[in-house]
Amino acid sequence: MRVIYLSTEEMPRHWYNVLSDLPFELDPPLDPETTNPISPEKLLKIFPEPLLEQEMTKKRFIEIPDEVLKEYLRFRPTPLIRAKFLEEYLDTPAKIFYKYEGVSPTGSHKTNTAIAQVYYNRISGTKVLYTETGAGQWGSALSYAGLKFNIPVKVFMVRVSFEQKPMRKQLMNLFGGDVVPSPSKFTEFGKSFDENHPGSLGIAISEAMEKVLNEEGAKYSLGSVLNHVLLHQTVIGLEIKKQLEKVNLEPDVIIACHGGGSNFGGTVFPFVPDKLSGKNVDFVACEPESCPTLTKGVYRYDFGDSSGLTPLLKMYTLGKDFIPPKIHAGGLRYHGASPIISRLVKEEIIRAESFSQDETFNAARIFAKVEGIVPAPESAHAIAGAIREAKRAKEEKREKVIVFTLSGHGLFDLSAYS
Ligand SMILES: *Cc1c(COP(=O)(O)O)cnc(C)c1O
Repeated sequence: MRVIYLSTEEMPRHWYNVLSDLPFELDPPLDPETTNPISPEKLLKIFPEPLLEQEMTKKRFIEIPDEVLKEYLRFRPTPLIRAKFLEEYLDTPAKIFYKYEGVSPTGSHKTNTAIAQVYYNRISGTKVLYTETGAGQWGSALSYAGLKFNIPVKVFMVRVSFEQKPMRKQLMNLFGGDVVPSPSKFTEFGKSFDENHPGSLGIAISEAMEKVLNEEGAKYSLGSVLNHVLLHQTVIGLEIKKQLEKVNLEPDVIIACHGGGSNFGGTVFPFVPDKLSGKNVDFVACEPESCPTLTKGVYRYDFGDSSGLTPLLKMYTLGKDFIPPKIHAGGLRYHGASPIISRLVKEEIIRAESFSQDETFNAARIFAKVEGIVPAPESAHAIAGAIREAKRAKEEKREKVIVFTLSGHGLFDLSAYS
């Protein structure tokens, strides 16, 4: 069986909350003004109550509301595909599988949380959602979800990506999203930068936050990093578990690319209890050498944005003022990382590897040619990781089972390939 499908009935009905199974407490988010643990009242200015609850809860399973499930079922469950052609090309004894999230309406895993977040904002009376986007994937996903649940979406897009990826802007506009390049003229913080500044996710988040803090009925939506975002993404790993059971296999290595940690966390979290109870499974987060948050960052409290408006999170960080080089994997240019993933790296439950842009795009080209799917530059880091593991398996003459998440397609990123 090359493609392992699940039926509609087999779609998970719950998200999995890894916090319920971790043998340690996470350090709390801190108030940027007092540096004491932040009060829920303050956070309610930024996020609606149901999402805040999900951010803090220790409940193991959280039911997916019917309205959200209905939207998921347009494109989920997504296929798990045996990369037979890649295996042949690499002449490896490893069995390689990839979970393909590019079948979603906007081409990446980001709709999994966008749909949920907009739904909870809808039932909480939010009037408008502000957000930032790097490569445009998150802005597209949130615009699409905004359309489904009827909330206007306003997007600050990192300028370098806005210029490199005009089709992403058109996609956001098609779904009704409003997009401006960041830094922009629409916020005080944005105005403090030079007109041609390339921008960064940290700056774009500051602009969105500034709007939210000054506008009645406005809320903020984040596409990665936070606990509730990773929670929503666990549909990926929960489906993979069921799919591997169908072919009677257990993973030896699970791989995903890492920007803020949402597709990685969504992929591996459902497997974390297995590892904690002694199973020998390796989790590998793949990131760019040019934005090496997990491999070279420092584990400490830092802001999520550049101007210091967000709560402080304990995480691996390159510093809030870090401006990454203009690499093509726009979605992997964030200075920080998910607090849960950061802690799991610290505890050595997860490991991270970094990849040069050359190794990444070589992997992407090979994959496109042999498997027939053009990967997003972000996802190509996971492919590069899987290829490294498959080569190791060949050296060790081991029939390893390698599973990775292909977080999105790269059909809007073709200019990056040239
Ligand atoms: C945004 C994005 C990423 C990186 O974000 P994570 O939160 O780390 O998953 C990876 N792949 C694709 C296709 C993306 O759009």
